[in-house]
Amino acid sequence: MINVPEVFGSMVFNDAVMQERLTKETYRSLHKTIEDGKELDIAVANAVALAMKDWAVEKGATHFTHWFQPMTGRTAEKHDSFVSPQPDGRAIMEFSGKELIKGEPDASSFPSGGLRATFEARGYTAWDPTSYAFVKDGVLCIPTAFCSYGGEALDKKTPLLRSMEEINTQAMRILRLFGNNEVKHVVTTVGAEQEYFLVDRDLYNRREDLIFCGRTLFGAPAPKGQEMDDHYFGAIKPRISAFMKELNEELWKLGVYARTEHNEAAPAQHELAPIYTTTNQATDQNQVTMEIMRNVARKHGLVCLLHEKPFAGVNGSGKHNNWSISTDTGVNLLEPGTSPHENAQFLLFLAAMIKGIDEYQEMMRVCVASAGNDHRLGAAEAPPAIVSVFIGDDLAEVLDCIENGKSYAGSASGKMEIGVSVLPAIPKDSTDRNRTSPFAFTGNKFEYRSVGSSQSIAGPNTVINTIMAEELKQFADELEKAGEENFTKALNDLIRKTIKEHKRILFNGDGYSEVWEEEAKRRGLANLKTTVDALPSFLLDKNIKLFTSHNIYTEKEMRSRYAILLDSYNKIINIEAHTMIDMARKEILPAVSAYVGGLFADLDTKLSVAERLKTPVPHNMEEETAITLSGLCDEALTDLVLLETLIAKSDFKDDLARGQYYRDSVIPAMNELRRTCDAMEKLTAKEMWPLPQYGDMLFNI
Ligand code: ADP
Ligand code: MG
Repeated sequence: MINVPEVFGSMVFNDAVMQERLTKETYRSLHKTIEDGKELDIAVANAVALAMKDWAVEKGATHFTHWFQPMTGRTAEKHDSFVSPQPDGRAIMEFSGKELIKGEPDASSFPSGGLRATFEARGYTAWDPTSYAFVKDGVLCIPTAFCSYGGEALDKKTPLLRSMEEINTQAMRILRLFGNNEVKHVVTTVGAEQEYFLVDRDLYNRREDLIFCGRTLFGAPAPKGQEMDDHYFGAIKPRISAFMKELNEELWKLGVYARTEHNEAAPAQHELAPIYTTTNQATDQNQVTMEIMRNVARKHGLVCLLHEKPFAGVNGSGKHNNWSISTDTGVNLLEPGTSPHENAQFLLFLAAMIKGIDEYQEMMRVCVASAGNDHRLGAAEAPPAIVSVFIGDDLAEVLDCIENGKSYAGSASGKMEIGVSVLPAIPKDSTDRNRTSPFAFTGNKFEYRSVGSSQSIAGPNTVINTIMAEELKQFADELEKAGEENFTKALNDLIRKTIKEHKRILFNGDGYSEVWEEEAKRRGLANLKTTVDALPSFLLDKNIKLFTSHNIYTEKEMRSRYAILLDSYNKIINIEAHTMIDMARKEILPAVSAYVGGLFADLDTKLSVAERLKTPVPHNMEEETAITLSGLCDEALTDLVLLETLIAKSDFKDDLARGQYYRDSVIPAMNELRRTCDAMEKLTAKEMWPLPQYGDMLFNI
C-alpha cells in the first residue's frame, strides 16, 4: 500500500520544503520577489540554489536542467551535471545562484518564427519562481521561461505569466471599486482534464501511421464501436488499472493532484482529472502529466496516444480547461454570491467574460487550432468550431430579467437591480452538463472544451486571461469615471448594456445541430472550420491591439507564432500524406495484390471456365472477391498517384497558400485513398492484412 500523504509532492521543492530548508530571511525575500515579480538578489539566489541542490541530491538527482516550454508545445530540457571536479582529483556537487536564475541552452533548433536568425541562435532561460522545481528521473527540473537576447518570448510560459500579471492588475481595480481593500493579489486557476487512448505497444509498432503521425490514417471500422456506451465509466481492466495506479503514484510524487480516473466514451479511451491550481502551475503540471503518461504506458507494454483523433469513427480526445479567477483570500470570483453586493460583483465578472468571448471569438478559435484538432472542431464531434457560451437556463433567465428590467421569479425583491436584489441561489446542477458547448459555465468556473488533447494549455489560458483583463480594464475605466456616488447605477447600466450587446454569444442548445450552424450565421458568429480558416484571424487588427496593449505579445511575437502554427500545420499534413503513400505502396497494395493473386490461383485450380459455364453457381467466393478487390486495387493506385502528384506540387512560397492547398486538394485526396483502402480491408482475409485492425487495437487490452 502506498502512503499517499507521505509520497505526495515528495519530489517537489515546494513551499513546505522551502520553509524547512531556507533561513527565515531567505524564505521571506524569495517570497517577496515572487509576489512583487522583482528580480532575485544574487545572495538570496545562492542560498536557494544551495538548499535546492542539497535537497535534490538527497532525492537521487545528479543533474539539473532548466525545464522550458518552447513553441513546439512540448517541453525541453538539457541536462547539466552538478559535478564539479576538484584540484585534488575528487569531485563535489555544486550549483550556484547564477545557474539557478539563468541558463543558456544551445537551443537554436527550436522554432522561433523568424524571431532569431541562426547566427544569433542562443536564447536564454530564466527561472520562474512561481512554479516549483522538481526531481524527475534523477534530474532537478527548474521551470523556466525561454527568451531571446532581444527580450522576445520564445516560449509559451512567458506570455502566460505576462497575462496573469495583467489580469491581476485589472481585477484588483475592480475589487477596489467594490470596496475590497484586503485582497492583495488575484490569480487565475485551472484544472485541465486530460483525455487519452491506450493501445498495445506491439500493435502500435506495426503501424507506421501511429509511429509517425500519432493517429491511424487507415482503418475500417470494427464491427463494434462506442454505440453501446459500455466503456464510458465502465469497469477498468486489470492492465489499465495497473497503468493508472503507477501513473497516479508518479504524478503524486511530483505534486500533481491526479484526482479522478475513468474510462471515456470511446473504447480504449480514458481520462485523468487533476485538482486545479494556479494557471501557471496547472500548465506545467499538464505538461508533466502528458510526459509521465507516455513513459508509464511504455513500462506496461502500452502506448499512450495523446493525438486529438487517433481513430476515425470513435470520439476524439480533448482537454477540458476549467478556468476560474480567485483572490489570495480564497474567494472564487466566479462563485455566485449570497448577498446583493457579492451578486453584483459576480455578475460583473460574468458579463466581462461574455463580452470578451463575443468580441474575441476568433481568437478563442485560433488558440486551439491545429491539424489534429481539426478532426474534432468542425467535424461531427463536440465541441463545434463555432464559439459560444453556455450559462444554463437559470442564469440565462436572470440575465434576461436584468436586461429588460423584469422581476425574476426566484427573487423576492421584485425587479432585478444589480447591487440591490439578491440573486436566488443558482443550483449548480442546473448549470449543466451541456456537453456540446465549447465554453460552458459550470457553477463556479468556465470549462473550455475545445482545447486539443495534445496541446499545451498555455496558449488558450493566455488568451482567456488577456481577454478577461481587457474587459475588466474597460469596466474599471468606466466605473472609476462614474465615481463612488453613482457606482450602483453605473454598474447596473454597464451590466445591462453588456448583456444587450453581447447576448448573441450565449447559446444553451445543441451545438452539434445544423440548426445551430444556421442560427449562428444569422447572429454573425464566426464559424472557422479548419486551422487554415482560423489562423489568419490571429493577425486581425483588434487582436494585435489586444495583445500589444496589454504587453502580452509584441506584434513581432504574434507574427512569429502565426508563422509557427501555420508551418506546423503544413508539416503535419505533409508527413501524413507521405506516410499514407508509403503505407499504401509498400504494405497495403502488395498485401492485397498477393491475396488477389492467391484467389485467382485457387480459382484456376478449382474450376475451369468451361466447367463453370456449364454449372453456374450463384456465388463464387474466389471469383467475386478477387474481381472486386483487384478493381479496388486499381482504384487505390489511381488515388495514390493523384496524391503523389498533388504533394509534388505543394511547394508554395507562401505558407498560407500552401495550407489552403493542403486543405482543399491534398486532404480530400488523402480521404479518397483511405476510403478505397478501408474498403479493401473489409474484403481481405485477416491474416493477409498487413496492419493491426481497429478491432484489435480498440478491444484487445
Ligand atoms: P465535475 O466536472 O466532474 O463535476 P468538478 O467540477 O469538481 O468535477 O471539476 C472538474 C475539473 O475542474 C477538475 O479538474 C477541477 O480541479 C477543476 N476545477 C474545479 N474548481 C475549479 C476552479 N475554481 N478553478 C479551476 N478549475 C477548477
Ligand atoms: Mg469536464
